[in-house]
Amino acid sequence: MVTEERLDELLTRLRLTAIRDQLDSLLDEAARAQMTLREALLFLAEREVTRRDARRIQMGMKLARFPYVRTLEGFDFEAQPSVDPGQIRDLASGRWVGHAQALLLLGPPGVGKTHLAVALGREAVERGYSVLFLTAAALMGQLMKAYTDGHLEEKLMQLSKPKLLIIDELGYLPLEPAAAHLFFQLVARRYERSSILITSNRPVGEWGQVFGDAVAATAILDRLLHHSQVITIRGDSYRLRDKRRSGLLQKPADSTVATPEGR
Ligand code: ADP
Ligand code: MG
Repeated sequence: MVTEERLDELLTRLRLTAIRDQLDSLLDEAARAQMTLREALLFLAEREVTRRDARRIQMGMKLARFPYVRTLEGFDFEAQPSVDPGQIRDLASGRWVGHAQALLLLGPPGVGKTHLAVALGREAVERGYSVLFLTAAALMGQLMKAYTDGHLEEKLMQLSKPKLLIIDELGYLPLEPAAAHLFFQLVARRYERSSILITSNRPVGEWGQVFGDAVAATAILDRLLHHSQVITIRGDSYRLRDKRRSGLLQKPADSTVATPEGR
């Protein structure tokens, strides 16, 4: 009894909580498998590390503030032939985040830009990278507020910390004139240090209009595109696909690929 209490106390102090919480069943299992002491120690250490990794990932997912759960397994590549599964699989490895590259996901509404951004963000978290997801509107709002309140430096520092910053829906809303300059500062600060993933419904050629400032847009794109991958998604909205199938909506006339009926 005394040994048991003391062991509990020591495991708590060493923060070996996975071993502590399951000690009886783990020791039973080790005995049943007739492990050597060395094997048993390995077995216990593996359990502790497995739980620690799981906790770290869980915390990383929370800190990333994804708007919802979307996964690569849940992405229907057949429905989206303009997306190369090989390229996405390569991005899922997280290497681009390790190399501080940028990724732009461009295309019309409903084609899966946010879905892929969240899914790739989750892959990055699982590989140990810190991630933060924000809409462009929220990001610009935070930058503008920090600027007017005189806290821009702190804000830029905070937004420079995550290894991957995901900025969703750039271009849906017009930006305030000062926003372009603040955004440039953020991009310049992260340049070659940490990754940015941007989703936008506007091609980069229109970003001058998006930012309301062609010079700032050029400077922003210069840095973003230097080490980057740009994925332009085409096709129809996935959201409207089922409605279209059931005949509720007509297929848009400018649809790029005509699908034969009954497929
Ligand atoms: P976007 O950000 O390009 O406007 P979303 O990523 O929000 O589009 O996609 C709209 C909805 O359709 C989401 O619920 C998303 O999960 C789903 N969706 C889009 N494309 C696909 C796809 N290829 N496979 C599975 N679900 C998809
Ligand atoms: Mg979206």
